[in-house]
Amino acid sequence: MSFKTDQESLRNWFLNTKRDFPWRKEVDPYRVLISEVMLQQTRADVVVPYFERWMRLFPTVQALKEAPLEKVLKAWEGLGYYSRARNLHKAAEALSNGFPRTYSELMAIRGIGPYTANAIESFAFHKKVIAMDVNVKRVLSRYFALNCTKEAKNLAEEQLAKSKPQEIAEGLIELGARICTKKPTCSNCPLAGGCKAFNQGSISLFPLLKKRKKSEELFLETIIYQYKNRFGVQQRKKGELFADLFLFYEKKTTKKNFDELCQRTGFKKVIATATCYRFKLIPRLEVVDAPIEGLEFLTLDECLKRPFTSGHKRILHQLLTYFEREKTA
Ligand code: SF4
Repeated sequence: MSFKTDQESLRNWFLNTKRDFPWRKEVDPYRVLISEVMLQQTRADVVVPYFERWMRLFPTVQALKEAPLEKVLKAWEGLGYYSRARNLHKAAEALSNGFPRTYSELMAIRGIGPYTANAIESFAFHKKVIAMDVNVKRVLSRYFALNCTKEAKNLAEEQLAKSKPQEIAEGLIELGARICTKKPTCSNCPLAGGCKAFNQGSISLFPLLKKRKKSEELFLETIIYQYKNRFGVQQRKKGELFADLFLFYEKKTTKKNFDELCQRTGFKKVIATATCYRFKLIPRLEVVDAPIEGLEFLTLDECLKRPFTSGHKRILHQLLTYFEREKTA
């Protein structure tokens, strides 16, 4: 058994069992780009409604290019890693005259990395390449019993079928997501015949996992200043973490103070992660008798139209519930 023969079993398995995602119904480079960027660090079922809404709002590269950044960030709200949305907006400018077809030209576009470039080459242009996301790295590392994923990629690409290679490349992604997971179900795997790690009983050795750096924990008191029926927000500046997004006023606090606030604010704490931080936010409402300098005061309806960070979006929804309850009390 070799990858050359096993890949046909993989193809059959994929074509017969693949999940029905909107980005698989109609394939073009723009749709591949958007779906693959959205799928980074986010589960496919979570991405579906975001992708569908995005395609309604920005059905073409041209539409994305012409959209204001704030609208793009709003459509991304909840997916996190907002730099990806900003990069897509920038990329639309470079792509509006046509999509490049080569790896090096794709890589020259802001926000397109090796995985996305390979995914576009494979799914949209049907080239003989494999896009190596974390799932595919796991599958191929086990299949060839190699911890060097580059070597595993080269071996698989050398043997990749000439006919519709994109089905094999996508099948590997699907296999890694459903069968060859952290705890693989090898009895259902179409690659089991030639899988080296499975046949030599060494699955636990592949792939070699790097120790993840522990993220820094930050305790933040989030003060929602209320002036009449308006609430104070700030838009983060370019170059800062969460650039262009909106947040309520927040300041660092100690764990002790944070725990005390949790007992008395009437709001729930919110935990959010970004890059190497783990933010713990505790909101509290403070009524003021004049607007505060440096803050923009918006109604709740206006807040809903602005792009907030995922943590502050959850705070905004707590605020909405809080005033709904007040109204009916
Ligand atoms: S046989 Fe098991 S370890 Fe090998 S590719 Fe299939 S699921 Fe993964």
